[in-house]
Amino acid sequence: ATPMSIMVGIGRGAREGVLIKDAQVLETMEKVDTIVVDKTGTLTEGRPRVVDVVAVEGSSEEDLLAQAAAAESVSEHPLARAIVDAAKERELSVTKATDFQSTTGGGIEAQVDGRHIRVGKQDFMANNGVQVPEEIAKKSRAMQSEGRTVVFVAAEENLLGMIAIADPIKQTTPATIARLHELGLKLVMLTGDAQATAQAVASELGIDDFTAGVSPEDKHNYVQDLRKQGRIVAMAGDGINDAPALAAADVGIAMGTGSDVAIESAGVTLVGGDLRGVVKAAALSRATMTNIR
Ligand code: ADP
Ligand code: MG
Repeated sequence: ATPMSIMVGIGRGAREGVLIKDAQVLETMEKVDTIVVDKTGTLTEGRPRVVDVVAVEGSSEEDLLAQAAAAESVSEHPLARAIVDAAKERELSVTKATDFQSTTGGGIEAQVDGRHIRVGKQDFMANNGVQVPEEIAKKSRAMQSEGRTVVFVAAEENLLGMIAIADPIKQTTPATIARLHELGLKLVMLTGDAQATAQAVASELGIDDFTAGVSPEDKHNYVQDLRKQGRIVAMAGDGINDAPALAAADVGIAMGTGSDVAIESAGVTLVGGDLRGVVKAAALSRATMTNIR
């Protein structure tokens, strides 16, 4: 039979916005020594907005943004919403796209006004034969070192330019990270975003260990490797791209603000995406298990 105090612990978690699936999750949480976190939507608000548009010579900012918005209009990625909103704000006319295709953790492509438009990270461009001129690459690195996410836009194999997107760090993130460190937990950030962007966010938050440019599969493998090394891993994430890693962790922690797939893959859901719930879950599991013994 399930001990009474576990039920009480789960109940208390629920009242504090930490939804724990079952007794097993609470028991495992106590043993966790490593927390893996996703960046976008987990450490950051995940409500990004466009802060800069840079067009290459021969292309205009308006055209680039309008094409990108058309291609992104079907995507549910937070970056897609930022691009669509920016086009709306500038009152650009955005046509309908067809043949939409998404490469998770890389970018998207679609047919817009007879042109094949791609929007995504530099690797995604390279994989599709789109060259990024050094001058643009340099500008993108400068923006990334300020924590911006940069996506590139191309028509066929020609680069049109890039879009810089800012996604503020959640207000609750710095204190949460400090508390997790105090609890003696090892913290690792994994992100599909670029190295320079990840570096900027990691140093701002004092996260000592991170890996950038990872695919959803990489995130999953990374979690699995840590477990093979004998670590007990909780993984916190919000996106479809995090779902495999959440499922592979000893404890998956989904942001309640994230995708349904992430929530279904997790043992813990944080209401409102409040990251302080990670600390609460750790503290609650320790208190509950001490009570039982
Ligand atoms: P994270 O791991 O930080 O949550 P993702 O794995 O979702 O990020 O995405 C990684 C990168 O892939 C993004 O930083 C972006 O460059 C690119 N990307 C993913 N989806 C899109 C999209 N819909 N439009 C443009 N770029 C995208
Ligand atoms: Mg994410």
